[in-house]
Amino acid sequence: MSQDTEHVKCLIIGSGPAGYTAAIYAARADLKPVLYTGMIAGGQLTQTTDVENFPGYPQGIMGPEMMEDFRKQAERFGTEIRFGYVSSVDFTSTPHKVVVDETVTILADTVIISTGASAKWLGLESEQKYNGFGVSACAVCDGFFFKGHDVALVGAGDTAAEEATYLAKLCRKVYMLVRRDEFRASKAMVSRVLATPNIEVVYNTETKEIVGDGQSVTGVRVLNNKTNEEKVIDVTGFFVAIGHHPNTDIFKGIIDMDETGYIKTKPGTTQTNIEGVFCCGDAQDSVYRQAVTAAGTGCMAALEAERYLADKEYAVEAEAPAKSF
Ligand code: NDP
Repeated sequence: MSQDTEHVKCLIIGSGPAGYTAAIYAARADLKPVLYTGMIAGGQLTQTTDVENFPGYPQGIMGPEMMEDFRKQAERFGTEIRFGYVSSVDFTSTPHKVVVDETVTILADTVIISTGASAKWLGLESEQKYNGFGVSACAVCDGFFFKGHDVALVGAGDTAAEEATYLAKLCRKVYMLVRRDEFRASKAMVSRVLATPNIEVVYNTETKEIVGDGQSVTGVRVLNNKTNEEKVIDVTGFFVAIGHHPNTDIFKGIIDMDETGYIKTKPGTTQTNIEGVFCCGDAQDSVYRQAVTAAGTGCMAALEAERYLADKEYAVEAEAPAKSF
């Protein structure tokens, strides 16, 4: 085996609530897990503010702080946490082959995929042009730069509602662009938005273009899809909060997934169509997408990996010739 090739019992790809929970369980079961964090160590929750619905935190907790707690707990039981990005996988034989950062090859008896999901973009040319120059998909990361400014935010789900209220604390005014005449967000979140005086909800509104002076954003051109009226709203910041897509591109054509890229698991389990490969968290969940459900499936994945390894070991022992004394 070359210096850059390593054999592990359990490899965990991704560091959100699913990956870290899988790591806690796998480490306590002595699987000596190695976890690669991916680009954003801690996952999506490191880009959010208050988490009020994760059991065990009666006063709520900030997302980044919670993920730090997850990491520490995983490390406490011996998980080896490494910063690195899985660049390719080969699941055609066992142990499974996983290449990290195009240089390190890991041979893994079990693989737990917990790569999560990423923010979606509108797909406008101007959105790309001004990305990082007034356009952002993360209010918590970039809201600070727009302190005292007027900004717009597109989306009507829980993420959009949460980010709009976050921005409202920093910005003079937040225009919330909602493409239908209603929200998708939960009632509690909508109430919070509607009770915030400096958020103006603009219904039936589609974003046509991010307007700028070549250097930074100066406005957003919108269309009212009921009246066909177009106008430019003057803003210096534009936030996109329209949902997420699963981070599963490296597994395309290798593992079974649905048409939107969510990895398929056998109902009631985290087992994929490939033996010894398990998937948990948002990479396989287009329905619940909560930190607590991700953590729950992370636990399931580790238990299933452990049972899979135990079954294999037992099968080998059963096949071995009996010792004579
Ligand atoms: P959702 O898929 O729930 O919502 C996406 C929103 O973006 C929808 O309102 C949708 O509009 C809108 N949208 C999509 N594409 C466009 C477009 N091209 N132009 C304009 N608007 C667009 O994603 P979220 O990220 O908000 O939430 C994902 C999951 O995470 C949900 O289950 C949510 O409950 C959960 N969540 C929970 C939080 C919490 O409890 N603290 C915080 C954040 C998320 P339309 O409604 O018209 O389809």
